[in-house]
Amino acid sequence: MKKYHIWTIGCQMNVADSTHVGAELEKLGYEPTDIIDEADVLVLNTCVVRQSAENKALGKLGALKPWRLQHPQRTLALMGCMVGVRPSPQLLSAFPWVDVFMAPSEAGPLVSHLRNRMTARELKEIEEKQLALRHQLQDEAWPIASLKHLSLAGETPVAAYAPVVYGCSHACTYCIIPFRRGIERSRPLAEIVAETRGLVAQGVREITLLGQIVDRYGYDFDGQRPNLVDLLEAVHEIDGLWRIRFLTSHPSYMNDALLEAVARLPKLMPHIEVPIQAGDDEVLARMKRGYTAEDYRRLVARIREIIPDVAIHTDIIVGFPGETAEQFQRTYDILEALRLEKTHLARYSPRPGTVSARRMKDDVPDEEKRRRHQLLEAQHQRISAELNRRWLHETVEVLVEERHKGKWRGRTPQNRLVFIEDDRDLRGRLLDVHITWTGPWSMQGVAADRLTRARNVSTGLTLH
Ligand code: SF4
Repeated sequence: MKKYHIWTIGCQMNVADSTHVGAELEKLGYEPTDIIDEADVLVLNTCVVRQSAENKALGKLGALKPWRLQHPQRTLALMGCMVGVRPSPQLLSAFPWVDVFMAPSEAGPLVSHLRNRMTARELKEIEEKQLALRHQLQDEAWPIASLKHLSLAGETPVAAYAPVVYGCSHACTYCIIPFRRGIERSRPLAEIVAETRGLVAQGVREITLLGQIVDRYGYDFDGQRPNLVDLLEAVHEIDGLWRIRFLTSHPSYMNDALLEAVARLPKLMPHIEVPIQAGDDEVLARMKRGYTAEDYRRLVARIREIIPDVAIHTDIIVGFPGETAEQFQRTYDILEALRLEKTHLARYSPRPGTVSARRMKDDVPDEEKRRRHQLLEAQHQRISAELNRRWLHETVEVLVEERHKGKWRGRTPQNRLVFIEDDRDLRGRLLDVHITWTGPWSMQGVAADRLTRARNVSTGLTLH
């Protein structure tokens, strides 16, 4: 059987795109492999949001030149933000050993390329298989749209992603995503629900709905409906799905109806990802984020009022052009005051073509960016350790995802990472876990049923 391998770097949207490409390749009869030399098709799904991610993809492309040129029957495909909405002439000429260039979320060019290389007999076999699949879907009254993402590359994950809004039309001055992923496009609600049902049928128990500004789901539909609340309510109805998350939110588009839906619908997890990026109003204005630090403070208070057990995650960029020491201090101070559960930190690096790269001087020295980054990292570590400590000796519900270094790894409703030592197969189980140790980045615990058993042994009670 022919094999494929997908190398992915970057955000959750890229992970979801890779899953989609894997599904399309499996429909063509390919199976996944972890070994590059075994693969007939290799897809590099790239990210250029940071220079380091771009450098890794460039290094990989160079290293794969002999892999491709010494084996003419192989296919090398380049996908994602490095390609953008359409590949530039410079990109095409720099890597002539790449067979297919694909925009983010677009598997079509690779599928066409591979189909063009197939014999009539192979194509006929594939069409027969796909027809059988359609019949199976119709039997279960699923729309044909659910053919997308039906199969997952490799082992079915317990937690999966589903893109609901592609692209972004916001145009923050530092951000390359609108240039590479195009304008905002919401996917039809029925298609997302059908896709999620397909994932659940394969064993997925948690779904994260993705959008660059996920709260804007439906803004591009007539009458702006269905919106994100409608979508969450529809996905919530799916039997066999236990947990739902959505990200990333934007402070200007979160509203009470959305927060109330999180509080009201039991499958919606108390976990909100809403970036602030900076705590100084002038920096926020230069970033064109569209809110002030005070707006963000009020939003955090409102989220906590409506969803009392919520965990709020944020993003920060340090060293944005013109950011003074005082302006950075305001970022530090707001994070100290708000004590958010998680902070994703980045040092500013100009991305060619963005407004900040064209019009603003990258004037904060690297050393100073690193210093500010380290200060926030230390602050985050301290706050996170303090917040995690409140779970010590508590019992939390954990959805167990996978085995990692001899332990089971899962997440709490607030998306806290928990490791469990247990010799049973816990994959995909929803478990009450007694927390025995906490650190800044994770916690450890014992399955509550094992704890009861251990206590019973020590008190001489009968076991069942
Ligand atoms: S909201 Fe801003 S940071 Fe987020 S993807 Fe859109 S342009 Fe980029």
